[in-house]
Amino acid sequence: MTAHILDGRAMGAEIRAELREEIRRYVQEQGRAPGLIIVLVGSDEASGMYSKAILRVANDIGISARLEQLPAITSSDELRALLLQLNADVNIQGIIVQMPLPHHLSQKMVADTIAASKDIDGISPRSAGNLFLGLPSFLPSTAAAVMEILERIHIQLAGKRVVIIGRSNVVGKPLAMMLLQKNATVTICHSRTANLADFTRQADVLIAAAGRANMLTADMVRPGAVVIDVGINALPEGGIVGDVDFASVREVASALTPTPGGVGPLTNVMLLKQCVQAAWRELGPVLTPDTITYH
Ligand code: NAP
Repeated sequence: MTAHILDGRAMGAEIRAELREEIRRYVQEQGRAPGLIIVLVGSDEASGMYSKAILRVANDIGISARLEQLPAITSSDELRALLLQLNADVNIQGIIVQMPLPHHLSQKMVADTIAASKDIDGISPRSAGNLFLGLPSFLPSTAAAVMEILERIHIQLAGKRVVIIGRSNVVGKPLAMMLLQKNATVTICHSRTANLADFTRQADVLIAAAGRANMLTADMVRPGAVVIDVGINALPEGGIVGDVDFASVREVASALTPTPGGVGPLTNVMLLKQCVQAAWRELGPVLTPDTITYH
């Protein structure tokens, strides 16, 4: 069997086109575009590039997006004051604070301060709690990207055995909650899991989010499984690979995301999708044209 390769770039383009249309309708009805702000503290190069990439796509599809760049010496009180001001700004529906923050600033303070209604990357305890309870919630964008891929390839998740490698707060744990809501039978593995392959070989859907280059090899995959590779690993010799050993796994899986070009391109798009959802939600839950949770 040779796996069907799931093209994240093509899916991303499809979603961008859908969002552009939805934003056009929002602007027509509301007389203004949804507003997005990215807060970047300090001068981390990767965060700066990532922020610019989000801004470019956001503005291209019609969101009014801007960057608020603060010096690395910004105090916790100053950052908190800015976030409170953005929470109250009626022209802003989505707030993203780029991580990592300088060491003297706390991610927890940021997560606690961003209004739940504007928390489009699902980082606040309130968003996480709502997700846990199966209530409408904003979702961490990478986990949402994985669900979007599974939705777009029309996988029937009810009753399926799904194994996730990785239990981080941004990928593994929220994904497990979303998959449970879809009635999958979910197993979460991590660095202390004994005999990992015994679990992975049982999976109908296998999601690798460990951050270990090429760790998932063909012998760990049940023939015909759908394999989603979240990992992004820079090789010492240059280049980027996923957690999945692409060359061998493509010979046993039925479908497989590549790295790069799989989950990555959808992550930003899911942030923007949630920004548009935040704008609709502000007008009242019944007006939301798309579901936010994966019930
Ligand atoms: P993380 O916080 O470092 O979590 C990694 C998880 O994998 C942990 O739960 C860890 O277990 C587990 N793990 C590590 N080595 C393992 C092993 N040998 N066997 C089994 N489990 C193992 O990473 P993350 O933020 O979730 O990100 C995971 C990967 O996704 C990274 O490569 C990251 O670059 C990538 N990523 C991609 C996107 C995207 O847009 N595609 C977005 C975010 C992240 P313990 O909990 O026991 O330590």
